[in-house]
Amino acid sequence: MSLDLPLRPELRGLSPYGAPQLDVPVLLNVNENPYPPSAALVDDVATSVAQAAAGLNRYPDRDALPLREDLAEYLARESGVRLPAGCIWAANGSNEVMLHLLQAFGGPGRTALSFAPTYSMYPEYARDTCTDWVAARREEDFSLDPGRAVAAVAEHAPAVVLLPSPNNPTGTALPASTLLAVLDAARQVPGGCVVVVDEAYAEFRREGTPSALELLEDHPHLAVSRTMSKAFGLAGARVGYLAASTEVVDALQVVRLPYHLSAVTQAVARAALRHTGSLMEQVASLRSERDRTVAWLRDRGLQAVDSDANFVLFGVLPDRVAVWQGLLDRGVLVRQTGPEGWLRVSIGTPAEMTAFREALVEVA
Ligand code: PMP
Repeated sequence: MSLDLPLRPELRGLSPYGAPQLDVPVLLNVNENPYPPSAALVDDVATSVAQAAAGLNRYPDRDALPLREDLAEYLARESGVRLPAGCIWAANGSNEVMLHLLQAFGGPGRTALSFAPTYSMYPEYARDTCTDWVAARREEDFSLDPGRAVAAVAEHAPAVVLLPSPNNPTGTALPASTLLAVLDAARQVPGGCVVVVDEAYAEFRREGTPSALELLEDHPHLAVSRTMSKAFGLAGARVGYLAASTEVVDALQVVRLPYHLSAVTQAVARAALRHTGSLMEQVASLRSERDRTVAWLRDRGLQAVDSDANFVLFGVLPDRVAVWQGLLDRGVLVRQTGPEGWLRVSIGTPAEMTAFREALVEVA
């Protein structure tokens, strides 16, 4: 007899989200930092976790206040924008931060809007919070035309706009003028609209590319999401955070689960924040490797999108599945994402990028 579960109809037949986790020598598919934590950081994490472990009979600090203070301090150093800890929110990866945003501001009868190609998790947050999902289009070159973006906001009257900058999978960042145009349009939406700028890859942006953090002061309906999964090389620890007005942060406090961020996670994140200097040196070398990769792909006659992130979208391949498989057969895993014909490669160590180039020469 078949089991009759009351699964929501929209979930029927769906597979869990996620890129394949394959045991391959060169992993360039999920935009991780390829460098494991330094010995000094591992030591610091071990000491901090041991201290946290001594108190594990108690629930963790529900407000994660020391961590939020450290994150505020980091943002002040990274971007020059000083915020009080009450304007910072932290959770288990920026995925959870953005789910909290949709839980607080989305919901039945409300719309979340983004511009495709965009981060593939956004429609999942929308689905899981029963929020209507609209993906308007970017231009052919993946840029976002401010006039069309404003028109889409006016047409769909979203409660939430999700703007990844730098965008995944294209690597392109939005100019401040476009962000300002969308923020202005959002202000006109009846009932209000929160604009989320997802800056998961902010630390990799090129000289002169702005951060939306600078716009927070004048825009209380702006929320800037960041993560420690990329530049900080802490994908395994699951720490993301948000900078926004206290009104937005207070709303997220209402929907979070009690004690959502474990004492161990908080300790690990605070330890990593003490090593920002050496981590940012790594970021600088990953940025150079990225620019070299773009130049090399173009030299080979392929298109490569200029990137402000730690990955490059390249193509256009007559058969991207065959190229993806050919690379995999040679021990290099990249991601099939974005429009047909394109592949995305994360920036690895110089040795990993050599392996990628050698494999690609054989297959494309
Ligand atoms: N935003 C974007 C644009 C991403 O690419 C990712 C990770 N791939 C995330 C958010 C989520 O990262 P995390 O949950 O690890 O912070």
